[in-house]
Amino acid sequence: MHLSEWEAARFTRSEAEETEWGKLFETRKHILGELEKARQDKTIGKSLDAKVSWIGFSENGAEVERAQENELKELLNVSQFIIEGVARQQDSPVWTAAVKKADGQKCERCWHWETDVGTNTEHPTLCSRCVEAATALSHA
Ligand SMILES: [Zn+2]
Repeated sequence: MHLSEWEAARFTRSEAEETEWGKLFETRKHILGELEKARQDKTIGKSLDAKVSWIGFSENGAEVERAQENELKELLNVSQFIIEGVARQQDSPVWTAAVKKADGQKCERCWHWETDVGTNTEHPTLCSRCVEAATALSHA
């Protein structure tokens, strides 16, 4: 590929990415409000105690949003983030975010709530991600 073509492709991609990030931050702002409500009515303590189920809005379809599950989980600092569905609406975005107490148990190491805490008998208080990390460390 010619350099100028590559530059053009890069520009287009970063513009698209910017739009995606803009949407992510919009979503984040909205859900933070829902998390605050859940904190006030004592459904959760910290945001890491939360499981967020979200029905979002997308022009590009569900795949884009699916790819954002992890990003949103990290942006919001919640234990679980699930996209239940995507509403396709032309002009008025439909936001529905349900905040519940996260599934599973709290991992002693990362404080995330995971359903796989306790599945490793050697590390009964850790989630599988932390078990992996702990195992990697002890073998280093
Ligand atoms: Zn963990």
